Amino acid sequence: AARYDIVIVGGGSAGMATAASILKRRRGIRLAIVEPSDVHYYQPGWTMVGAGVFNSSVTRRKQAGLIPKGARWIKASAVQFCPDDKQVILSDGRHISYAVLIVCPGLKLDWDAIPGLAETLGRNGVTSNYRYDLAPYTHRLAREFQGGRALFTQPVMPIKCAGAPQKAMYLSCHRWEKSGILARSNVQFHSAGAALFGVPDYIPALMEYVDRYGIHLNFGSKLVAVDGAARTAIFQQSDSEGTRQIAERFDMIHVVPPQIAPDFIRSSPLAAASGFVEVDEATLRHPRHPEIFALGDACATSNAKTAAAARKQAPVVAVNALAALDGRPPVAAYDGYGSCPLTVEAGRIVLAEFGYGGKLLPSFPRWLIDGTRPSRLSWLLKDSILPPVYWHGMLKGREWMVRPQPIGTSLQS
Ligand code: FAD
Repeated sequence: AARYDIVIVGGGSAGMATAASILKRRRGIRLAIVEPSDVHYYQPGWTMVGAGVFNSSVTRRKQAGLIPKGARWIKASAVQFCPDDKQVILSDGRHISYAVLIVCPGLKLDWDAIPGLAETLGRNGVTSNYRYDLAPYTHRLAREFQGGRALFTQPVMPIKCAGAPQKAMYLSCHRWEKSGILARSNVQFHSAGAALFGVPDYIPALMEYVDRYGIHLNFGSKLVAVDGAARTAIFQQSDSEGTRQIAERFDMIHVVPPQIAPDFIRSSPLAAASGFVEVDEATLRHPRHPEIFALGDACATSNAKTAAAARKQAPVVAVNALAALDGRPPVAAYDGYGSCPLTVEAGRIVLAEFGYGGKLLPSFPRWLIDGTRPSRLSWLLKDSILPPVYWHGMLKGREWMVRPQPIGTSLQS
């Protein structure tokens, strides 16, 4: 088996940022990235594609052009971990050996868990910003909507970017408000959860928009089936009266699919009970295999699953992985930072930034951006600043504002 100092499984936001960070710190290391896809997506841009603000092409780039210099790209999927042999088995049957393994293959969008959904996506008014090819359809549906019933769904947590189900809704409502269509529309938010957002500090600002747009909130309401041809969605409603099924007709529906750990992770010896990779919340190291780390959407930590989280996790994993390679204990800690820019209207964002336990971790002084209030500057950040920060900063190992902090101190710089 080919042998590497460090093998990274997954070349998405987390994997590429970590590879770049490691190679910035130590050149000449034998580092391989296992990644089957030819293209790399900037998924945070898909909300903007769905709103017609970005063209979808700006959210995708060729993987080949992004692989950091000095890294070896192995174009295959990982299918099995053999932690006792320190090997990963690939889809083409190859075995590769590592001294340190970093696991970050993202999560699985479980479209098939909802009967009728997969076959009607992209047709019959059924869309989702959670797929590159469907986000433009969200924009088309919102543009062509002539009033009627518009449904927006949110599945059971955890999901990547927990605010994205609402973002699609607010941006659509804002469009319809401007064109006068909102007044003859019935907009419903169906969330399997019990609250509008996981961190209470942001809810008042969001509720102002819910009221302004006249959105009907339905909590404990889980999408369980879609009949595209009949334009009907079936929800399982759970409340104090028990559990029952409710059929809702729609003219358009924006679906966020259930999200689970990838199958090969869930069935592996690395998995926690949740199916995601078990790691220490601070060091991101596996509790039973000290030479294995995980980050991004695939790990079982309780932070918000976002690219913003991966941006802060990557340097922590980089320094801890290098320490492990040298036979030393972890030196850096992650504070659970994640960020969710809630696009409440075209031009304004409620910038949720928080860490473990819902602790607010704002990046900016309050006089510049108060994250609990809608802000024009936050929109500018999302629209114009974060995409280049992603492509030219995060994926290149340029870590502005993300110095990894020693264990036992706050990570916030
Ligand atoms: P990904 O970026 O999904 O990458 C996983 C990679 O692993 C992929 O390249 C995949 O091909 C590869 N892979 C899969 N299986 C295997 C395998 N078996 N072997 C090897 N490789 C494999 N985040 C924000 O910070 N802000 C936002 O505003 C925001 N908005 C979002 C809006 C939407 C609609 C969506 C969908 C996401 C949004 N996110 C946002 C979330 C963000 O995109 C993810 O949290 C982030 O991409 C996670 O990075 P990752 O590397 O863990 O996973």
